[in-house]
Amino acid sequence: MTSPFDFALRAAHTRHRSDRAGAPADYIPELANVAPDQFGLAIATTTGELYAVGDYTQTFTIQSVSKPFVYCLALELAGEETILARVGLEPSGDAFNSVVLDPATNRPFNPMVNAGAITIAGVLHQIAGAKAFDTMQARLSAAAGRPLVIDEAVYRSEVETGHRNRAIGHLLKNVGVLRGNVDEIVDLYFRQCSLRVTAEDLARMGATLANVGENPQTGETVFDIAAVRNTLAVMFTCGMYDHSGNWAVSVGIPAKSGVGGGVVGVVNRQLGISTFSPRVDEKGNSIRGLAAFAELSDELGLHAFDASNLGSAIAHTYL
Ligand code: GLU
Repeated sequence: MTSPFDFALRAAHTRHRSDRAGAPADYIPELANVAPDQFGLAIATTTGELYAVGDYTQTFTIQSVSKPFVYCLALELAGEETILARVGLEPSGDAFNSVVLDPATNRPFNPMVNAGAITIAGVLHQIAGAKAFDTMQARLSAAAGRPLVIDEAVYRSEVETGHRNRAIGHLLKNVGVLRGNVDEIVDLYFRQCSLRVTAEDLARMGATLANVGENPQTGETVFDIAAVRNTLAVMFTCGMYDHSGNWAVSVGIPAKSGVGGGVVGVVNRQLGISTFSPRVDEKGNSIRGLAAFAELSDELGLHAFDASNLGSAIAHTYL
C-alpha cells in the first residue's frame, strides 16, 4: 500500500515541477551555476523512515539552513544565558543580510539573520578556536547521519564577494558583540554556509530536531534537548526571512530556508521535511519550496495549530 507520505509527496512534486518562476540566487556568483530546475522533496520520520521524490539525492550548499543547527550547537556549548546576552529573539522584519542591529540593545535581532548567525559563529570561534569548523561540521554531519563536506567553489566564491557579511562582522565588532578576529569569524561562517547537503540530509537533520536531538536513524544523541526547544521556537518566528509571519499562518511549521534553494521544516516529535529547488524569490525563499510546503502541511495536517493536532498533555491524560 502506498503510504500517505508517498502519495502527498508525489502529488506536490507533480503539481509544481513545471513551475519555472524565480531564478537561482546569484549574489554569490557560483550559486548561479546550479541546474535551476532540480526539484526534490523528502520526509524523514522520527521512527527512521524516509519518503522522498525527485532530486532528493542531489547536493547543493546548505547556506542559511545551517543557522538553526549551528545555533542549537552554540546554545549547548556556550549556555543559553551567554547566547541571549549576544543575540536577541525577535523577528527583525528586515532582509536576511541587512546591516542593522536592534537599536535598543545593539544586538542582532535574532540568530536566523546574518548578523545573528555571524555572532553565533563568533561564540563558537571563541570556544573552539581553530577547531570551530570541525566541531560544526561533525555535529551537522551527525544530525544528517553521514559526513558532510564543503563545496570549495561556492566557499571561494563567497570569500571573494562576501563584503557585506564582512561589513556586518565589523559592525558587530565595533559594538562589542563580536570578540576575536573578524576575518576568521566571517570565514568560519562562509564555511558553515558552504557545506553540501541533499534534500534527504535536510529531512534527516530535521528529524533529528523533531526527535528531541537524537538522530532516529543512527540512534546518536546529537543535540541537547533544551537547546532543541529554543531552536524550534526561533525557527518558527524568524526562520523564513521577512516572510516568517506569512509562513507561520500558511504552513505553521518551524522551518529555515537558504539561498541555495533548500528549506527544512520540523514537526515536533514526528518528522523532518525538506524541499530543494534552486529558483528563489526576491526574499531568498525557494518558490517551489514555499508552494510544496504549504500543500504538504495542508494535506498531511502538519500545521502546529491544525484541528487534528491534539497536543501532548491532553492527548495523554484524557483521551
Ligand atoms: N552565505 C549566505 C550569506 O550569508 C547565506 C544566505 C542565506 O542563505 O540566506 O549571504
